[in-house]
Amino acid sequence: MRILVVEDEASMAASLAAGLRTEGFAVDIAADGEEGLWYAAEVDYDAIVLDLMLPKVNGFVVCRTLRDRGDWTPVLMLTAKTGELDEAEGLDTGADDYLTKPFSFVVLVARLRALIRRRGDERPTVMQAGDLTLDPASHHVSRGDTAIELTAREFSILEFLLSRAGQVCSKSEIMAHVWDFEFDGDPNIVEVYVRSLRKKIDLPFDRASISTVRGAGYRLEEDGG
Ligand code: CA
Repeated sequence: MRILVVEDEASMAASLAAGLRTEGFAVDIAADGEEGLWYAAEVDYDAIVLDLMLPKVNGFVVCRTLRDRGDWTPVLMLTAKTGELDEAEGLDTGADDYLTKPFSFVVLVARLRALIRRRGDERPTVMQAGDLTLDPASHHVSRGDTAIELTAREFSILEFLLSRAGQVCSKSEIMAHVWDFEFDGDPNIVEVYVRSLRKKIDLPFDRASISTVRGAGYRLEEDGG
């Protein structure tokens, strides 16, 4: 899951990004509203954390511009202001949720996950393909009763494949959702991670749930074994 953080306070942006990466999200940072709008046009984010007071274009205008473009990516707006009036203003502008600074990081992550879940009604709390389950909140993955330990990157790839179960996902799509702009390496790195995923979720169980679609990408299906 890929998140855009639009925040002009560098230390705040850096700590948010570090925390979200630890939670398994890919994160891009935009330092002002203009940059935020640029990133949002380039990448299909799963959610946007948007500061209200921003240089160049403020958060209200960023949000309204996104909605005018027909971009309905969930927006969690951060503000130092308090009061119902401000909240109503934010919601009118199309923000999906609101958090007043200072906030707890745990609360921010919970709200973000709720927004991402709400966005796609096909996306259940616990993701499943046959007896393979992934819980985005607890980071728990299992095949039947057997718990599986994944690295943060493997987890993100599996989460993305599960969100598109039955569909072909190209390497570049996987890259776009799992890596951020700081990574400009070879898309074939995806192969390396898919191989290690198979060693953990398929091989020990004599399954083949991730199939390679020649020249197109990968497809995760129930069982497949
Ligand atoms: Ca600010």
